[in-house]
Amino acid sequence: MSDCLFCKIIEGSIPSDQVYEDEWVYAFKDIHPKAPTHVLVIPKLHVSTLADVRDSAWLGELMQRVNHVANDVLQLEAGYRVVINVREGGGQVVFHLHVHILGGKKLEF
Ligand code: AMP
Ligand code: ZN
Repeated sequence: MSDCLFCKIIEGSIPSDQVYEDEWVYAFKDIHPKAPTHVLVIPKLHVSTLADVRDSAWLGELMQRVNHVANDVLQLEAGYRVVINVREGGGQVVFHLHVHILGGKKLEF
């Protein structure tokens, strides 16, 4: 998707603070962090929103990578929060599916 911000981040045409990459996902620091650690994990395949996902195996692969980034890369042993905003009503601003990982402090609601 040529006009997608996160596709451009994956391509490298827009800079980002990378924390992890493999053949499936790219992970980078959120530019406006809402916790001491705030990382976004995005699939390399452009999918607009969680609501469009029909493939449970694909979703499982994505979530397994989220766990890997949070546990093994970011080492958030104390715990973390995973957030996916879905469509405008859910607070989604960038329409390339992304998983927020938040941690580094005790998160209250
Ligand atoms: P959402 O509201 O779930 O769509 O989240 C979009 C997130 O992307 C927000 O937390 C933004 O701070 C973050 N964001 C937007 N542009 C960039 C960028 N260029 N680099 C890193 N994070 C970004
Ligand atoms: Zn995209």
